[in-house]
Amino acid sequence: MNPDMKKRFIHAMISLLGKTAVLHQYEELVSYECDGYTIHKGLPSAVLFPANTEQVAAVVKYMAEHQIPFIPRGAGTGLSGGATALNGEVLISLVRMNKLIRVDYKNRRAVVQPGFVNLKLSTSISSEGYYYAPDPSSQSTCTIGGNVGENAGGAHCLKYGVTTNHVLGLEVVLASGEIVRFGGLPDTPGYDLVGFFTGSEGTMGIVTEITVRILKKPQGIKTVLALFEDVAEASQAVSDIIAAGIIPAALEMMDRIAIEGVESGNYPVGYPRDIGAVLIVEVDGIEAGLQDQIDLVLAVCQQYRIREVRQASSMQERASWWANRKTAFGAMGTISPDYLVQDGVIPRSTLPQVLARVDEISRKYGLRIANVFHAGDGNLHPLILFDSRIVGDTERAVRAGSEVLSVCAEVGGSITGEHGVGVEKMEDMRYIFTEEEIEAQLKVRDVLNPNQLCNPDKIFPKPSRCVEVKRYLASANEEHVLH
Ligand SMILES: Cc1cc2nc3c(=O)[nH]c(=O)nc-3n(C[C@H](O)[C@H](O)[C@H](O)COP(=O)(O)OP(=O)(O)OC[C@H]3O[C@@H](n4cnc5c(N)ncnc54)[C@H](O)[C@@H]3O)c2cc1C
Repeated sequence: MNPDMKKRFIHAMISLLGKTAVLHQYEELVSYECDGYTIHKGLPSAVLFPANTEQVAAVVKYMAEHQIPFIPRGAGTGLSGGATALNGEVLISLVRMNKLIRVDYKNRRAVVQPGFVNLKLSTSISSEGYYYAPDPSSQSTCTIGGNVGENAGGAHCLKYGVTTNHVLGLEVVLASGEIVRFGGLPDTPGYDLVGFFTGSEGTMGIVTEITVRILKKPQGIKTVLALFEDVAEASQAVSDIIAAGIIPAALEMMDRIAIEGVESGNYPVGYPRDIGAVLIVEVDGIEAGLQDQIDLVLAVCQQYRIREVRQASSMQERASWWANRKTAFGAMGTISPDYLVQDGVIPRSTLPQVLARVDEISRKYGLRIANVFHAGDGNLHPLILFDSRIVGDTERAVRAGSEVLSVCAEVGGSITGEHGVGVEKMEDMRYIFTEEEIEAQLKVRDVLNPNQLCNPDKIFPKPSRCVEVKRYLASANEEHVLH
C-alpha cells in the first residue's frame, strides 16, 4: 500500500470500527510479524479488531472493493505461518469476538464466537458435567476460530476425533463480504461446506460463529505411565496396544531428548533422564471395565524392556503428567536456543522404521531432534533443535524438517497432522500431491476466493512452469472463443 492509499484505508477502518480497533504504527505492528512459526516474518499493513460479524463483513467488503489482501487471525499460536503477513497483508484479528453465545445441554451443542479460547469452553460447561473434546496443547491460549482454521487435534483426539468431528455449523464471511451459514441442522442436504471450511487455513473466508458438539464427561478415567528402555520398543508397544483392541482416550510418547527438555522445564515429574521413551496411556468411559483395559495395556508393555510403570493415584498426579506433556514444545527452550516443530503423520506400524530414519536425518544435519508424538494416531512432532546465531543452522533445520516430511510421505503418511501447511510446507505439498491434484484444489479455492485476497500465497506451492503454460493456454483459448 502506498502512503496515500494507506492513509485513506486507515481513515476508513477507523470510521468503520473505531480508533481502538485499528493498529497501524510500526511499534504496534511488530508483535504481529509472525505466529508460532518464527522462521518467516512479515509486517502487516494494519491489524483490525472487529467486534461482530457485521463489522467483519463491512471490512471485508471494503477489502474486496479496493483489492486489499487480508488474513484472518486468532491467537497467532499456529505453527506453520498461516496467520503471518508475508507481503504486507492486513490482519483481521478475531480475538475481540470472544463470547460463548449459548449452550444447549439437551442437544449437546454450544455456539461460540471465533475468538473464544478453546479451554474456556470446557471450563465454562464443566460444572454441568460437560466438556469440549479437541484439546490442542495450546488450548489455554488458542481460539476455536483458529482451531477451525487448522482443523486442530490434540492428545485426546485419538478416541474422540479432531476439530472437524466436533464442528456442527459455521457462520462465515466470504471473501466478497457476504455472510453465509453452513450446517447447524441435524443433517444438511447439499455439499458439506462445514467440512470443507474446517482446515482451510483462512483461505476461504472468515469464520465468525461456530456451533460445536459438547460431550458428557466420562464416568471414569485411568492413566498409566510406562518408562521404556528403548524408543523402538515403545513404538512397537503403541501398535500392539491398538492391535489388542483398545482405543485409549490418549496414547502419547516422548523420547529421551524430549524428556531432557520437559524435565528441565517448568513441570518436571521426575522421569529418569536416561530412559529411551515414556508412554502415557489414558483410558476413559464407564468405570466398570476400565481397570481391565489398563491391565491389558500393562500386559502389552511388559513384553518389552520397561523400567517402571506407574498408575496415576489421584487426579492431581494425572494433571501433573499432562502439564509436563502439554508444555513439551516450550520446554525445548531450556535445552536449545531455537527449535522447529515438525508435524508429520505416518501409519502407526511404521513408527520404529520412521524413527530410525529421523535419527539418520539428525546425524546427517548435525542437529539434535527430540520426538514428541500423539503416538496413537501416528502423528509425529519431531522438534529440531538449532541455534539461529550459527550461520546456516536455520537453513539446516528447515531442510532437515522437510526431509522428515518426505520420509512420512514415503511410508504412506502425510506432511501435516494438525498444524496445517501455512507458508512452511507449501513446497512439501508436492510430496503427496501431483500437479494436477494441486491444480484441482486451486480451482476450488478460486471459486470462493477468486482474487486471492483472503490469505493469499498460503498452502499451495507456486505452480510449476508446465501448469502455468497450461493455464495461460486455457485463458488465451477462452479469450479467443469470446472474441
Ligand atoms: C505450544 C504449542 C502447542 C501446540 N499444540 C497443538 C496441538 O496439540 N494440536 C494442534 O492441532 N495444534 C497445536 N498447536 C498449534 C496451534 O495452537 C493450533 O493450530 C491452533 O488451532 C491455532 O489457533 P490460533 O487461534 O492461534 O490461530 P492462528 O494461529 O491465529 O491462525 C491459524 C490459522 O487459522 C486461520 N484462522 C484463524 N482464525 C480464523 C477464523 N476466524 N476464520 C478463518 N480462519 C481463521 C488463520 O488465517 C491461520 O491460517 C500448538 C501451538 C503451540 C504454540
